[in-house]
Amino acid sequence: MYHAKAYSAASETSPLAPATIPRRDPKEYDVQIEILFCGICHSDLHSVRNEWSQFMPTVYPIVPGHEIVGRVTKVGSAVTKHKPGDVAAVGCMVDSDGTCIQCKSGLEQFCPNLTLTFNSPDKHLGGVTYGGYSDSVVVDERFVLRVPSKLDLAGTAPLLCAGITTYSPLRHWGVTKGKKVGVVGLGGLGHMGVKFAHAFGAHVVVFTTSPEKKEAGLLLGADEVIVSRNTDEMQKHAGSFDFILDTVSAAHDINAYINLLSRDGNITLVGAPPQPLAVLAFSLIAARRNLSGSNIGGIAETQEMLNFCGEHNITSDAEVIPIQKVNEAYERLLKSDVKYRFCIDMASLKSE
Ligand code: NAP
Ligand code: ZN
Repeated sequence: MYHAKAYSAASETSPLAPATIPRRDPKEYDVQIEILFCGICHSDLHSVRNEWSQFMPTVYPIVPGHEIVGRVTKVGSAVTKHKPGDVAAVGCMVDSDGTCIQCKSGLEQFCPNLTLTFNSPDKHLGGVTYGGYSDSVVVDERFVLRVPSKLDLAGTAPLLCAGITTYSPLRHWGVTKGKKVGVVGLGGLGHMGVKFAHAFGAHVVVFTTSPEKKEAGLLLGADEVIVSRNTDEMQKHAGSFDFILDTVSAAHDINAYINLLSRDGNITLVGAPPQPLAVLAFSLIAARRNLSGSNIGGIAETQEMLNFCGEHNITSDAEVIPIQKVNEAYERLLKSDVKYRFCIDMASLKSE
């Protein structure tokens, strides 16, 4: 075991503050990574403030962060896929049983014995796993991704959650050229959803509560941007969407979007508000519409997504911050005041 620098929160009302955490020495199949960048996902904020207490209660202290990019510093004797000096990445998962039907299907995110990057029981050290707001992490090589060369590293970190969480359902539900696709919420997930849906050739419509994001949405690749409070504009699109990706992090009216789906259209929730959403049965019944959910993506698909980004030069629009600004960034995230993902430059942790 060794000690790493980190930022952690001691309770649901505490700010994130400097801390020292234990990390295991790399075992046979482990990869040790010096973390260079870590994105800030809204899930970090939900977890730090224990907003998901009903579903996945937070164990304190918590070190969040699951959008990790860094440099390999050491590997175990049995590691074949990574070597010291490589750029490598880690997303929301660090282990799974590898034997269940979900793992065998490449869908580790649904494994009953999944270990998340933070706030999951730590099989090696006891306690819970600590995430990427840290200078170093040790992860089983099966959960370490390769980063295509040439991609900007700060813009790559958010691909590890915001990227795969939007790529996976768009692929699963067959978003291609000729499809009309909506993206609700233009935040970290939403802006990646727009980039991928556009790259897949779809006609992309953004729904936002922030009128000032209109121009920027078009620049990201949207064909249309609609301010969702404008009911007349919404009404013009009734019954016309093949697929809608809902990335909203707070309570909102999803019936307004269900009504925009065509017959057999699908709305998939990736946003995870703590509160239940009210669904009007008639909205679904009226046109055999589908309501679904999606959870990140498997490891093979995450690598596929990264390779796709390498081929198409896709990265997240990241606002890079020093870790000392993380609490301020959380407040700005709550006000939808970020274009479109905060990413922590972990070099800033050296001065702590
Ligand atoms: P984010 O950057 O804060 O983006 C959320 C966006 O939702 C905001 O930018 C805003 O967009 C919109 N929004 C916020 N509050 C709203 C409200 N009260 N009513 C309507 N719209 C509102 O967050 P994120 O990191 O993209 O994460 C979004 C959600 O996905 C979070 O709940 C997160 O936990 C969840 N998540 C799920 C998965 C998964 O695997 N399913 C993975 C990662 C994250 P506009 O300003 O454009 O309106
Ligand atoms: Zn996330």
